[in-house]
Amino acid sequence: MTRRCDRNRKRSKRRGVYCPIHGCYLDSISRKYSLFADKPEHLQQRGMKRLSALTLIQSYTAIPLTGEWLEDFWCQECQETTWYHVCRYENPQLQGGKYHYKLSPAPESLWRQASGVIQPGGNPSVGEFTRRAARNINYQGVRGFRLIG
Ligand SMILES: [Zn+2]
Repeated sequence: MTRRCDRNRKRSKRRGVYCPIHGCYLDSISRKYSLFADKPEHLQQRGMKRLSALTLIQSYTAIPLTGEWLEDFWCQECQETTWYHVCRYENPQLQGGKYHYKLSPAPESLWRQASGVIQPGGNPSVGEFTRRAARNINYQGVRGFRLIG
C-alpha cells in the first residue's frame, strides 16, 4: 500500500535514490505524492492490455499506481531541487537494498495524476481530481491487482 509510505516520514536510513546526472545521494525534501491512473492509456503505458485497462478505469475511475510517485529532492552537486517521477522496482540481486529506483524529471502533465498536491503555480484540477479519486477508489476492490513493469 502506498499509504504506509506517507506515514513513514521520519526516515533515518537513506534510500538508494541517486541523482540521475551526478550519481550522488539525493536528499528528499518533500513527502511522496502518490500517482493515480485515471485514463486507460496510463495503464496501457505500463504494460496493461487495453481491455483490462478500460474495464478497470470504468469500474474505479482512478487506480493507484503502486511503486510510483512524485518527490522533491535536493542534489548537492546540482545545487538545486528537482521534482522527480520516482519508479520503484524490486531489486532481484538484493544488493544495495531491497529496491532500486528510477528517477526522471517529473513532466508537468504528471501532476494531474498526483494526489494531495500543492504545486507552486497550482493546478486547480488536481484538487478536484483528488476528491473524486478518494471517493471512488475502493482499495479493497483493487487489492491483489498488480501493475506490470
Ligand atoms: Zn545532481
